[in-house]
Amino acid sequence: MHLPPFPTLFQQPVPPLFLVFLAAVGGCVGSFLNVCIYRIPLGLSVVRPGSHCHACGRPIPPQWNLPVLGWLLLRGRARCCGVRIDVRYALVEAAMALLVPLLFLRYPPLSATVFVLFLSGLVVASLIDIDHFLIPDRLSIGGAIAGCLLAALVPAIHGPAYDGRPWAAFNQSLGGAFLGGFLLWGVVVLGSKALKKEAMGLGDVKLLAAIGAFLGWQAVLFVIMLSSFLGSGFGGAMILLRRQVWGSRIPYGPFLALAAVVWLFGGGTLWQVLFQWWRQGMVGIL
Ligand SMILES: [Zn+2]
Repeated sequence: MHLPPFPTLFQQPVPPLFLVFLAAVGGCVGSFLNVCIYRIPLGLSVVRPGSHCHACGRPIPPQWNLPVLGWLLLRGRARCCGVRIDVRYALVEAAMALLVPLLFLRYPPLSATVFVLFLSGLVVASLIDIDHFLIPDRLSIGGAIAGCLLAALVPAIHGPAYDGRPWAAFNQSLGGAFLGGFLLWGVVVLGSKALKKEAMGLGDVKLLAAIGAFLGWQAVLFVIMLSSFLGSGFGGAMILLRRQVWGSRIPYGPFLALAAVVWLFGGGTLWQVLFQWWRQGMVGIL
């Protein structure tokens, strides 16, 4: 019996110094995402005015605005007026500082760049969903359109087989977007009928369409499975911990995003290998 080898997930040749640079870039991207998370739901511009304190309104000088380090040096308090700064700001920056270099270790440079954009959209959509129970259309529908266009520009995002075939990649994105939108829309309609209330927002449907556009239709099936598993696990844990009561609302966007990130970092590949091992094991037994 011959089993496929365990896949190597991070094998792009990236010089160590460049990884440090990418971590710094990731931190700065995270810093900008924090601005987007705060301002987009309020309908404010994400570029102007520059960073300023939410409590007293004074501008924040660049040295105190350094990703992660600024928060650590100030011990989580604003220098201007001493107001507490949520640790979440530093966590978003730290997560991006970690994930951006990993994307470049996993994918060729152009694909990795596209996926930095995709990951950024997922982070912003998730945190806005947690804060406001909504996912702005410009992220979800905008993301689905961007995914199709970027696939045509960088076909390799759908794998080496698509390299140099922009139309095939565009079709793969379109298929993923439609499957994502259609499948989850069906779940929403059936769920609303069964529970006699809104099971899930249409924002989640549009977010899954965007995920499908960037990752393709196979990822849509994986993301639906894993996110419902994660979401129900989280909901059950919250009820057990008496933090929530049965039927209270939990935003679903973050679970979709988390499942998409798992796929992005090789969850799908691992799944396929495990499935092959299992199937060959079954053939061996029979
Ligand atoms: Zn202040």
